[in-house]
Amino acid sequence: MTFCVKCGKDIDSAIKGMCTECFLDGRKLTAMPHHVDVKICANCGDIGYGERWVTKDLQEAIEDAAVDSLSAIKEAKVIDVKVSSSEQEPSTHVVVVDSTLNIDGCIAEDTSATIVRLKNTVCKRCSRQLGNYYEAILQIRAGSKDVSQRTMREALRKAENIVDNQSVSNRQLFITKTEEVQGGIDVYLSSISLGKAIAKDLSDSYCAETKEASKLVGKTSDGQDMYRVTYLVRLPDFHVGDVIQFEERYFKLNRVSGNGAKVIDLMNFRERAVKRSDTPSFKVHERSEDLKEATVISKGQKEVQVLDPMNYSAVDISIPEGAEVGDTVKVARIDDALYYVP
Ligand SMILES: [Zn+2]
Ligand SMILES: [Zn+2]
Repeated sequence: MTFCVKCGKDIDSAIKGMCTECFLDGRKLTAMPHHVDVKICANCGDIGYGERWVTKDLQEAIEDAAVDSLSAIKEAKVIDVKVSSSEQEPSTHVVVVDSTLNIDGCIAEDTSATIVRLKNTVCKRCSRQLGNYYEAILQIRAGSKDVSQRTMREALRKAENIVDNQSVSNRQLFITKTEEVQGGIDVYLSSISLGKAIAKDLSDSYCAETKEASKLVGKTSDGQDMYRVTYLVRLPDFHVGDVIQFEERYFKLNRVSGNGAKVIDLMNFRERAVKRSDTPSFKVHERSEDLKEATVISKGQKEVQVLDPMNYSAVDISIPEGAEVGDTVKVARIDDALYYVP
């Protein structure tokens, strides 16, 4: 048992010799600096924390910066904060923080305010991107003049998707620029490993031929050799879904992977695997987008009768066992005969 030096009341425990009421009387419990600076990238809007850049809602970043700058007297523990902010000028926000504090079991409240100033700068990624920084060039090329524009664009989209996916966890990965050039597309990339990953993916998904070449371009700031790597991806003429000719037979190209291709024989509908090294001898007979549709007139066990789209005569074509045949079917014309394309 002791007593308060200010009001003389008997108390169990004292804070600086006083009862809690006398201690709290007129005392400022929290403090904030006059202002807090928040780095914002003028190009992408990301928020900078030292060397780290984070994609964050601006309002949230402003309020968090203010709360982080809040301090309380050592006898108090902040147990809750309520934040409100108002914009003074586009880059100056006044943030008011109402705090609830616990001082030796006694709950008290206090209000502090600060000015959050937004400082425009450019993050490392944007400065590299704006400065046309690149470490790798992906050259997507048509292996022959017959490669369709659609396939080229599809390959570019695949590359862009890989960059989008990888940049979620690593913001230093980006496409610097994309250029249409004679015979294809050049994609400038911020990282060698990104170029390698895309080249591998395209190579596997198209059975494409790839080559790489690296060139010493200088030294990094810490004295390491700096290389720039060019990945050439030559897209083959064939594409999944096409009717191809191979070893004097006709197939539908069903699947392509790093190991090779799976094809379906149009004469007997048997699937067959083709080694990757044999795929360069595929000859496109008819592209998937050019395959004609024929109207089904009647259905049997192993065949359907269709109207030939050329002359509207009725023809029987055989179908694979268990095929789901709708009102129309895809057909290919080979040596003047129609074949069902599964
Ligand atoms: Zn007192
Ligand atoms: Zn930026």
